[in-house]
Amino acid sequence: MITHNFKKKFGQNFLQDKNIIKKIVDICNPDKEDLIIEIGPGAGALTEELVKKSKVLAYEIDIDLKNHLLEKFSNNDIIFIFDDFLNRKISEDLTDYSYKNIYVIANLPYYITTPIINKIIEENINVKKMVLMVQKEVGDRFSAKVGTREYSSITVFLNYFFDVKKEFVVSRNVFYPKPNVDSIILSFTKKEKSNKVLNEELFFKIVKDSFKQKRKTLKNNLKDYDFFKVEEVLLKNNLPIDVRAENINIDTYIEISNKLNS
Ligand code: SAM
Repeated sequence: MITHNFKKKFGQNFLQDKNIIKKIVDICNPDKEDLIIEIGPGAGALTEELVKKSKVLAYEIDIDLKNHLLEKFSNNDIIFIFDDFLNRKISEDLTDYSYKNIYVIANLPYYITTPIINKIIEENINVKKMVLMVQKEVGDRFSAKVGTREYSSITVFLNYFFDVKKEFVVSRNVFYPKPNVDSIILSFTKKEKSNKVLNEELFFKIVKDSFKQKRKTLKNNLKDYDFFKVEEVLLKNNLPIDVRAENINIDTYIEISNKLNS
């Protein structure tokens, strides 16, 4: 274990269990021609397994970990950027690399999980698969099924881009310092989009607006839109007019947005 002043503000809980680490890497299964982006290597426990498989580009915000990481990894196949991942222009960082596929692996503090995923989507980084360890409750929301309480706009967004799968739960007991909650490993595999959204901006806005007030009906939340068109889609999909946002699947959201775009 390294001597380190663990910082709560950076969500520093370091993984101590080698088996869990191996299981995480196995979900991706990258090879030598691939590039892995690791966000938050910490003391480098996961990084150690990643460099055995592929080239690694690792972003660490805590400058206090710099000496430890640079000493531990003197390997050519790894580059560290000591900066906030959220402030980087990732596409520019990537210009120095040639690679077949990109994978993203991260064990993330809960408060930056969504901003990081949004950044990867918005920067249009062509990621084949992301394997993220997140707080269990966050994982439930990301992978929620339609009709459940956890199903929300972020579930729809994520499922538009990725096949989201719950891999396995990780007990709080395998971290140092021990966090207050258990975590879950999720994998996000990039979808080959079959359903064409005509206007992505409108699609995202409609989904967001649909969930504006969760207890209200879709009709209420979408009252600024031409609801006759929405009704047509609901009817076609055998959904009642007083349906709520949580009962509408992604394909129907796509149909609604395409209809409203026409
Ligand atoms: N990957 C290590 C492990 O599994 O043992 C550490 C995981 S720890 C939960 C999260 C790590 O992310 C910490 O090292 C923290 O300093 C780093 N971190 C937090 N916010 C970050 C950010 N915005 N950009 C880059 N690294 C960040």
